[in-house]
Amino acid sequence: MAKHLIFLGAPGVGKGTQAQRLAQLMDLPHVSTGDMLRASVQSGREIGLRAAAVMESGALVGDEIIIGIVAERLLLPDAAAGVVFDGFPRTIHQANALDNLVSAHGDQITAVLHINLSDEEIVERLSGRRVCSKCGAIYHIRYHAPAVNGVCDICGGVLLQREDDQPAVIRKRLAVYQAETAPLIAYYHDRPAYHLVSGEGEADEVFSRIVEAVGVVR
Ligand code: AMP
Repeated sequence: MAKHLIFLGAPGVGKGTQAQRLAQLMDLPHVSTGDMLRASVQSGREIGLRAAAVMESGALVGDEIIIGIVAERLLLPDAAAGVVFDGFPRTIHQANALDNLVSAHGDQITAVLHINLSDEEIVERLSGRRVCSKCGAIYHIRYHAPAVNGVCDICGGVLLQREDDQPAVIRKRLAVYQAETAPLIAYYHDRPAYHLVSGEGEADEVFSRIVEAVGVVR
């Protein structure tokens, strides 16, 4: 049976970092709809051009576009054994679509990892976040600084602050999260696959909690 894991939680709780690590551990692709949209923006593809303004404002890209790119991604051969999603689903409509995509293959969502963190900590993490422009690795200027300022430890790429990690956009993204995405907690809450995980502390500690919740052997 294919494994499909999803992360819930506000922007900045550490979903990206943790999803990348879990995907590596489980040997599954890491499917970040935000990364896919940013790649479309950079390549100048039509979806990217339409999405760019929405993303910069902190609002959500339309459900049909997102569901379309996810459905296409799941058809690629490397997704046959499942994927670790990051930043998807973000609305009830997307969650319904995902249930349909997964159940069409006779599968169920394997784990719903809900990471929670205080609002102050979220703002602190987002405003200090830096992302490698080449490989997508995630850093923090205080908590996870690269060896050389502004340079990725892994590939030597330039580290940048995301456009939407500016304070005004952060506030908007948190409001959008409360309105559109927080209802997913109730949607998944009663399933056995649902796990609430504290996002407090170092990335390693959070990862240990996730591994324990999912029950994967390291
Ligand atoms: P992220 O990298 O997950 O924080 O996503 C960055 C931005 O991409 C979001 O603020 C949205 O504008 C857009 N986006 C990413 N994933 C989704 C999604 N599942 N639904 C709608 N918009 C999305």
